[in-house]
Amino acid sequence: MVEPRDPEASLPEHRLLTQDDPPPVQVLRADGRSDLLLVVDHAGRAVPAALGRLGLPESEFERHIAWDIGALGIGLHLSALLDAALIAQAYSRLVIDCNRRPGHATSIAPRSDGTDIPANVGLDAAACGARIAEIFLPYQDAVAAAIDARAAAGRETVLIAVHSFTPVMAGRVRPWHVGLLTNHDPRLGHALMALLEREGDLVVGDNEPYSLSDLDDYTVPVHGERRGLLHVELEIRQDLIAGESGQRSWAERLARLLPPAVAACRAPGAPPSPLRSAARPAIADPRRSG
Ligand SMILES: [Zn+2]
Repeated sequence: MVEPRDPEASLPEHRLLTQDDPPPVQVLRADGRSDLLLVVDHAGRAVPAALGRLGLPESEFERHIAWDIGALGIGLHLSALLDAALIAQAYSRLVIDCNRRPGHATSIAPRSDGTDIPANVGLDAAACGARIAEIFLPYQDAVAAAIDARAAAGRETVLIAVHSFTPVMAGRVRPWHVGLLTNHDPRLGHALMALLEREGDLVVGDNEPYSLSDLDDYTVPVHGERRGLLHVELEIRQDLIAGESGQRSWAERLARLLPPAVAACRAPGAPPSPLRSAARPAIADPRRSG
């Protein structure tokens, strides 16, 4: 008689997460009624117990290099205010950055904003592979599965990636309160920008302080652009949303402005998606390009 195959036998040798580690993906309101799907790539700052603290002092986990300060709070409030599904990553971007193609120079960054990350230096393929397989892919697969399930149910998805940025980077003060990042399809970004500028008290960045690109971003190019979904990547300045009251007021503002911005994109006569037209630009597949 043949012994049943050990179910663990096919798993990679380097298993990273144990039962004591948090699951990599947090999903909230999966059946929320809103067309908006909120994704927070840099929500968390957990580190698998097996990696210690990555060789870093605890103070580094208070900094923007470890996570997007305030972004999860914005996502949670927005999810509640709009009854929108939310998918968030629990692990620090210093373990693996879930908005970078695996293999990208900053996917598992050996250095970030002046800080060396000792546990990210000289990793072999198996160690990198474990972080990809157990943290990056479950998160990205959850986003893909959520969009697939909504499509199968005949539901629209508008992808909203929630990020935050540090007010000072490399000695430069950043004047924007909020930045809207788009690349091949700026429809929702432009519609939301018009509404934010009408608020009268905001400096709004158009692809500032970062721009969205096929090579240096992952979530929006893969799930938003390649599927031709309405999308925008939000960047909110961290000093405005470090505390609960700022997170709430910014979420209330966005909950007030996002639905009319989406409606403007869907209004009769509004331009169609440039990604669904015959002149569709070639978008690199970040998962295959490295
Ligand atoms: Zn981010």
